[in-house]
Amino acid sequence: MGRMVGIDLGTTNCCVAWTENGKVTILPMPDGGYTMPSVVAFQQDGPTLIGEAAKRQAVVEPARTVYGAKRLIGRKFKDQKIQRWAKGVGYEITEGKQGDAWIRVAGETYSPEAISAMLLGELKTRAERYLGETVESAIVTVPAYFNERQRQATKDAGVIAGLHVEHILNEPTAAALGYGVAKGQNERLAVFDLGGGTFDITILEQRGDLFEVRATHGDTFLGGEDFDQQMVDYLVEAFKKRTHFDLRLEPVAMQRLRDAAEATKHALSATDSVPINLPFLIESAGSPMHLNVEAFGRKDLDTLNLQVLKRLEKPCFAALESAGLLPSEIDRVLLAGGMTRMRAVQQKVEEIFHKRAQHHMDPDHIVAIGAAVQCGILQGDLGAVTLLDVTPHSLGLRVADGRHRDRMRVLIPKNTTIPISEERSFTTTADLQRSVRIEVYQGESDDVTENVCLGQFFLGNLPELQAGDMEIRVTFLIDADGLLQVAAQEVSTGQEASIAIKSFSGLSPEEVDQLRIAAGTAPAEA
Ligand code: AMP
Repeated sequence: MGRMVGIDLGTTNCCVAWTENGKVTILPMPDGGYTMPSVVAFQQDGPTLIGEAAKRQAVVEPARTVYGAKRLIGRKFKDQKIQRWAKGVGYEITEGKQGDAWIRVAGETYSPEAISAMLLGELKTRAERYLGETVESAIVTVPAYFNERQRQATKDAGVIAGLHVEHILNEPTAAALGYGVAKGQNERLAVFDLGGGTFDITILEQRGDLFEVRATHGDTFLGGEDFDQQMVDYLVEAFKKRTHFDLRLEPVAMQRLRDAAEATKHALSATDSVPINLPFLIESAGSPMHLNVEAFGRKDLDTLNLQVLKRLEKPCFAALESAGLLPSEIDRVLLAGGMTRMRAVQQKVEEIFHKRAQHHMDPDHIVAIGAAVQCGILQGDLGAVTLLDVTPHSLGLRVADGRHRDRMRVLIPKNTTIPISEERSFTTTADLQRSVRIEVYQGESDDVTENVCLGQFFLGNLPELQAGDMEIRVTFLIDADGLLQVAAQEVSTGQEASIAIKSFSGLSPEEVDQLRIAAGTAPAEA
């Protein structure tokens, strides 16, 4: 049997780990580090680059270099957040199948699943080379706030890469496992996870070997890149003021600026002030123009990001409220995600929870370590713990309220422990109605149009009955990976229809197969 590994498929970086004889090993990368940049570069002449080499190419060929694909996964092109993000990246984001956000590079379109599959495939190859054996399956982590579509899309990416995805594990839950909380104590934990593109806050309770998520909140569009963007915007404006030249028109210069902003942010986690020097940034009328900032201070970075830092508060308070806890009732705050190295972020955590957060583990590896721990638990290599996670969004149906607007009827409220199955009976609104449309939504608004439609299906061939006489039983089932299945049944005839959320969006099974063939990971025909 091949090996099972834990994979943190991050917005910015990926990390792989596994357990052997109860000990966790993190996969070393060729550059000596333990993470691989989540970047894919399509060269004009030459093979597709993945990881470190791809990141290096971003400066030379920004339009051919894809990063942050995780931000697009399971999202619609018209989504305002996608539109805003599209303006800042060097590559083209386009409208793909069913209005999904896809990527267009060098005349080809790619789904974010296909890009994620390239990253997973590369990680699988590197792990196999290191281990000298086949890696067959994986536990892949996702932000707790990922919806059903995004989880399914991540699973599809694994399948395309030739991996059996054993489980989709929430990143904060993985982080808590990685911190080694599974040692039989009783405590309440908050996992504050701020990565390159997403923010999650999760409140967990541990009672012996039972490990229960009480609440989770977050923002799938809040992360390190937003901090970088503030700096980039500031530097662009300052340059424009001085030279009247708009750097936004120069993709290569913009990529250099983005890299410099990120490097400055990293340096400011360790020192108070650093210079920013970008010689020969552009050429104007035959002469080179440079960008030089003598001293950029940590305070400058914090001031530019006051609003971004403030956005961290609301999800934390919402999570505490959902868990019914006060900040003082949290025993420990654990940090995950590279951005928690920023001092101002640590201060914000302290301000919210009234206690210092723990960061004795490397926040870049903690999620992969936790995924590896779960691999170890599943394989019997580590002692068992029971993990109870929650659904991050309320799930329900569109129902007519007979007046002006359609309401959301919630079947499974946000933060319900999963796996779970819920059943509810409905009836028809018209006499002799022969079919009903079941529309599935997620979100917190009472007005269904403000929520996200996960999909719809029909239950037909209904018996001819008067309005209100028919009983239609709808069942929602969420499995341990947070994936939703909806079924409807007309009770008197037993007529049934059901659907997995997968069919509503993302790639069809046939498209997944095609991508597997293209990636060379499809099983050979017998
Ligand atoms: P992750 O998604 O967990 O890999 O986190 C990546 C994010 O963490 C990126 O935005 C990085 O710029 C940021 N990051 C990594 N190291 C540091 C550091 N030393 N100081 C501040 N931010 C960092």
